[in-house]
Amino acid sequence: MFTANGDYSLLEGNYLFYEIGKRAREYQAANPDSDIIRMGIGDVTRPLVPAVIDAMHRAVDEMGSEKTFHGYGPDFGYDFLREAILRRDYTARGAGISVDEIFISDGAKCDVGNIQELFSRDCIVGIMDPVYPVYLDTNVMGGRSGRFSPKRNGYERIVYLPATESNGFVPDLPKERVDVLYLCYPNNPTGMTLSHSQLRVFVDWANETGALLLYDSAYESYITDENVPHSIFEIEGAQTCAIEFRSMSKTAGFTGTRCAYTVVPKALVRLDSFGNKVSLYDMWARRVSTKFNGVSYITQVGAAAAYNEGYEQIKDVVAYYMENARIIREGMESAGYTCFGGINAPYVWIKVPHGDSWRFFDELLKERNIIGTPGAGFGASGEGYFRMTAFASRENTLSAMKRMEK
Ligand code: PLP
Repeated sequence: MFTANGDYSLLEGNYLFYEIGKRAREYQAANPDSDIIRMGIGDVTRPLVPAVIDAMHRAVDEMGSEKTFHGYGPDFGYDFLREAILRRDYTARGAGISVDEIFISDGAKCDVGNIQELFSRDCIVGIMDPVYPVYLDTNVMGGRSGRFSPKRNGYERIVYLPATESNGFVPDLPKERVDVLYLCYPNNPTGMTLSHSQLRVFVDWANETGALLLYDSAYESYITDENVPHSIFEIEGAQTCAIEFRSMSKTAGFTGTRCAYTVVPKALVRLDSFGNKVSLYDMWARRVSTKFNGVSYITQVGAAAAYNEGYEQIKDVVAYYMENARIIREGMESAGYTCFGGINAPYVWIKVPHGDSWRFFDELLKERNIIGTPGAGFGASGEGYFRMTAFASRENTLSAMKRMEK
């Protein structure tokens, strides 16, 4: 008889965005004339840039001709894209990654979840708190979390590392056993970053303890500060302890087009649950070629254009969002709020004066018709904060801040 995976029943549910949507709908139904500005969901709003569109049109034409048609692509992605990524994202920054360590995928979200197939079931997982919920929920689904403990306000077997104002939003090293640690910088939701020396502390810790670091730098292209690392592989020693996830979603507006990549170094070697020495690179390559048939040729051509002829156009779009971030940060500061982030990331993390982020959500919705995201939805340490995103139009960003002036 079939038995379903009971771990799914341990999930706390899609509470955050479900609840935001519900409250917004109820308010709109009761106030049909209200003009709500949405600064809650981290989805891009600018269209794909012309160079990407042109490249994709050409690729579509190639698909229509017998001579230039492409069927199944190479398992790990086309070299024209992997090489463009290598040049721009790694070689130019002195990160010694090789082209075959780059695996093209259809999303960082899928890969941060799928990577768990490489962990043994009894690995102890550490996450930052507040956190991008996917790291947590996929580990609950994978049977690594234990039950949710209301007393602990978290799962029994997950190690939470608070990233708060008191530690500059960079967690302290774990004080207990952690085998896999998720780090996300520039951070969603806090919009904060870490320096080379702060990242080096994690790399050294992982190499000393044998832990694995999963470094999500989906917002790397928003970094403006020279002292902020774009890749964990800029840090010496990272190749023996880290896997990195990147995405074209926020870099090039690919949230709907779907393209990302994961870097798994060949130097990443560990013992498996039978005591055998294994290469995580070989395991991931095996997984990808067994379970994934690649990202479409058309999409990869478009992604390559974002690295090549479209690079300046992409930078303009990023600058557009970062100008929104500046407007939000300065607008909220002049309205009297303490703000974090928004300088190297498209998120501004706002301190809620009375400390109750859901109450603040309701106040902003009702009094100013603005929607953001309550920090409590990202974890216990997110309570007391509120996230606003720069992924709105300039017009809406300016009107939202005008409403905050009142
Ligand atoms: N990682 C972080 C930290 C994110 O915030 C997001 C999207 O919101 C993703 C990954 C997902 O990226 P993708 O669109 O490539 O799946």
